Amino acid sequence: MPTVKSSKNMVAIKQIRFLTDHTFVLRLDRTDFNFKPGQHLTLGVNNSLQHREYSIYSGDKDDYLEILVREILEGDISVQLKNVQVGQPVEINGPFGILRINEEDLPDKKFILIATGTGIAPFHSFVRSYKNMDYTIIHGVKYSNEAYEKSEYDFHRYVLCTSREKKEGFQGRVTDYLRKIPVTPDMRFYICGNSKMIYEVYSILRNKGVQTNDIFSEVYF
Ligand SMILES: Cc1cc2nc3c(=O)[nH]c(=O)nc-3n(C[C@H](O)[C@H](O)[C@H](O)COP(=O)(O)OP(=O)(O)OC[C@H]3O[C@@H](n4cnc5c(N)ncnc54)[C@H](O)[C@@H]3O)c2cc1C
Repeated sequence: MPTVKSSKNMVAIKQIRFLTDHTFVLRLDRTDFNFKPGQHLTLGVNNSLQHREYSIYSGDKDDYLEILVREILEGDISVQLKNVQVGQPVEINGPFGILRINEEDLPDKKFILIATGTGIAPFHSFVRSYKNMDYTIIHGVKYSNEAYEKSEYDFHRYVLCTSREKKEGFQGRVTDYLRKIPVTPDMRFYICGNSKMIYEVYSILRNKGVQTNDIFSEVYF
């Protein structure tokens, strides 16, 4: 089992994989960077003092690190990251964060993983790392082409909620979907993405009787 320590690293970009026009996976040299699934790193580019947080998308046993990035057109770092080249060094720090699975829960709990957009990144790491995890991902996007690498998940464990397109999966927001499904005491809920969605999901779960101890979240913005 990897240990968690804090370290500072210059690492090279090994691969860039575009998933949509504005969303891409950066694969980085892992060196000796250890982390627990669900944690994030901070990344700086072009010797800038500005760093941003990115959840680790890869699994804890992969020999590389990956992050899933959406370019924010009015932003700064994500636009620069879209233009990096293979071989270019970037600075990473970490790992950070407490969005983690209690591994004692793995044998007998059901994990309900609720994300919007790139908020699916830490859940991708969970699924790659914990092969026997009993999970359901509820992924909210605007358009179905944002179902990032959905073939990585068991098809019956991945629910796509599209809010602006009637094409596949559930038509509506993750909150609309959640209101319709039953919850049971053996469920553990993880929520990741924008703060407005997280507050709404939290409120829906509490109204359904879910205990606060069984809800875990990570706010991106
Ligand atoms: C713990 C943590 C983990 C994160 N993990 C990821 C990740 O895995 N992938 C990822 O793409 N981003 C992630 N983010 C967001 C990321 O850190 C940056 O905020 C994002 O890349 C924008 O950076 P920027 O410099 O381009 O824009 P900034 O100049 O930092 O921000 C510009 C504006 O965009 C808003 N914004 C930030 N992110 C988004 C978004 N996804 N959608 C819409 N608006 C947004 C900001 O609130 C701000 O108003 C994470 C944030 C946190 C706190």
